Amino acid sequence: MTSSLATVAYIGAAILFILSLGGLSNPETSRRGNFYGMVGMALAVIATIVGPRVASAGIAWIIGALVIGGGIGLYAAKTVKMTQMPELVALMHSLVGLAACLVGFASYVDTSIQYTGAEKVIHEVEIYVGILIGAVTFSGSLIAFGKLNGKIGGKPLLLPARHWLNLIALLVVIWFGAEFVRAASVADGMTPLIVMTVIALLFGIHMVMAIGGADMPVVVSMLNSYSGWAAAATGFMLSNDLLIVTGALVGSSGAILSYIMCNAMNRNFISVIAGGFGSGGGAPAASGAAAEPQGEVVPVGAAETAEMLREAKSVIIVPGYGMAVAQAQHTVYEITKTLREKGVNVRFAIHPVAGRMPGHMNVLLAEAKVPYDIVMEMDEINEDFPDADVAMVIGANDIVNPAAQDDPASPIAGMPVLEVWKARTSIVMKRSMASGYAGVDNPLFYKDNNRMLFGDAKKMLDEVLTALRG
Ligand code: NDP
Repeated sequence: MTSSLATVAYIGAAILFILSLGGLSNPETSRRGNFYGMVGMALAVIATIVGPRVASAGIAWIIGALVIGGGIGLYAAKTVKMTQMPELVALMHSLVGLAACLVGFASYVDTSIQYTGAEKVIHEVEIYVGILIGAVTFSGSLIAFGKLNGKIGGKPLLLPARHWLNLIALLVVIWFGAEFVRAASVADGMTPLIVMTVIALLFGIHMVMAIGGADMPVVVSMLNSYSGWAAAATGFMLSNDLLIVTGALVGSSGAILSYIMCNAMNRNFISVIAGGFGSGGGAPAASGAAAEPQGEVVPVGAAETAEMLREAKSVIIVPGYGMAVAQAQHTVYEITKTLREKGVNVRFAIHPVAGRMPGHMNVLLAEAKVPYDIVMEMDEINEDFPDADVAMVIGANDIVNPAAQDDPASPIAGMPVLEVWKARTSIVMKRSMASGYAGVDNPLFYKDNNRMLFGDAKKMLDEVLTALRG
């Protein structure tokens, strides 16, 4: 393939990636968005392999790598549970970071192209910055992976004078950067490059260790953004325009998502990055006063729940992480259909950080074929709760916690929540009195108009459905 044909293919792929991002912003167009993304990526890979910069002797190596990498990816995608998706995403971000580091070192030791003067400086700055971003992304994503799957505790690790440590690290990195660019030979430049890489790896670990469990969603999307910038830096190192454009798209869309999520959790982006928030911990049943049950609750059974639903005119269903764990989305939709046939107005209220990844609930409801027009975002439906007869909370906890509004001392104070307690009756479906992801007790459970339906969401919903049909 000639170089101009490869450029045309790259432009086509870049357009497809932009269309893909546009499609993914709405559930109704997301399938199409995914398809555009897949076609764009296939085009990009093929144009690169048969393009002018790959020697024919290298093609076998690339195909071998594609088969191994693709096989691992296919296996991971097939076996990963929906609830483990954020961990997988974090792990994938770490690979992008690692790739940026490896490409950086490889292009530094590669002397086949001789740069001189300003070009040499620009090339070395690209390498230095690329490895810096890549190393931070690599180690930070590995820690995020450990925190999300519970291997590392959710509590923030706050070293004394951590901001000073970070500042000193930054100054040392800048100083070694100057040394690196001044180095007369590859051997001389290797020491500052390795020192900076070690500092960047430690910084990535320190940055994510300092962030509390409740802020992990923002961290994952922030690392997504970093992985984009790492890819863009790789593009600069390799003089590959498509990688620069794609990296910039991922970097900026990740940054926008982080901003939206910060708003959804009422967090200041800079403060999240500076660390220390979300100190409520990440374990579902965190210990401490905040997690202890603080009152009496009124349990109900499945038959009583079915009765309340049948008599309601308007029902709002709030799904959360527990619905994903129980895989109850199909039964939820069966109940929705049954109620709608009886003339009940049923809608879904989706909190932006419900579950364990952005869009988690939308994906599950789409899988169960729930129509999009009854699935509402938090801002669209929050003021309708006072008019609802029943608000049915299925395995959600933090996102319906009134303490976020009423208790300034709560670890989730200020986080916007779905105001289910304003409905005539709220029913919370969960297995026990255990706290949610943020590890705090939920005063909703003790409200006079709240009922608790204890049990696994799938099992209890099956019983409710049987009672409704009966
Ligand atoms: P929560 O984690 O607050 O609560 C989920 C509840 O589901 C638990 O209290 C649990 O109670 C219950 N549950 C678990 N398994 C089952 C089951 N099989 N059947 C019935 N209930 C079950 O989830 P929310 O969705 O309310 O809130 C999301 C939280 O996760 C927020 O704090 C958010 O910040 C955080 N987060 C969000 C991410 C995102 O991007 N969306 C990513 C990472 C974290 P019990 O054990 O008693 O059953």
